Amino acid sequence: MRYFTTTAGWIEVIVGSMFSGKTTELLRRLDRMRRAGRKVQVFSRDRRFAENAVVSHDRLHTPSTWAETSAEIEAQLKPDTDIVGVDEGQFYDEGLVDVCRRLAARGRVVIVAGLDQDWRTEPFMVMARLMAEAEFVTKLNAVCSRCGNPAIRNWRKAAGGERILLGAEESYQALCRGCYEVAVLESRQIEMFPAAPPKSDEKP
Ligand SMILES: [Zn+2]
Repeated sequence: MRYFTTTAGWIEVIVGSMFSGKTTELLRRLDRMRRAGRKVQVFSRDRRFAENAVVSHDRLHTPSTWAETSAEIEAQLKPDTDIVGVDEGQFYDEGLVDVCRRLAARGRVVIVAGLDQDWRTEPFMVMARLMAEAEFVTKLNAVCSRCGNPAIRNWRKAAGGERILLGAEESYQALCRGCYEVAVLESRQIEMFPAAPPKSDEKP
């Protein structure tokens, strides 16, 4: 029997809630690869922190290339790149799954960090599919800002329908499973019983 050798790479996915340290973990892994002499390229479509750089909350940073779509990641890839990092993967189209597949098949190591669910607890399909495709999946938790348990939810304090507000992390809170349910009930009560406006004839 004849075996064929393969030069394929692999896919790593880092998911979790906001404030769970996903970008820090991505940058740590990329830095490790860089120190070993591997050529690293990082893609992002998040300009919140800095132009052409991915920056974590603890201010680690790495140069990055802006890519609006998954196709732009593939188009801008340098021929000698060994390691491909993608930050905020949930903002990309689902074509990212096929791009990662192709890159791994061509010997690249692809590391994607991103949110696994939106503030309504609905999964981001691009990240869910990447988790199924990846060799390695790391799920990180934040600390619940109410009780200190592991937080998997992104509770949105501001009203509105968008899945994730870009550049508005102060509008979110990491909550655990239980505190999220309490927060949902509290918000419904606020909707049912809005605070009455003060009567104009009342003396303060
Ligand atoms: Zn909690």
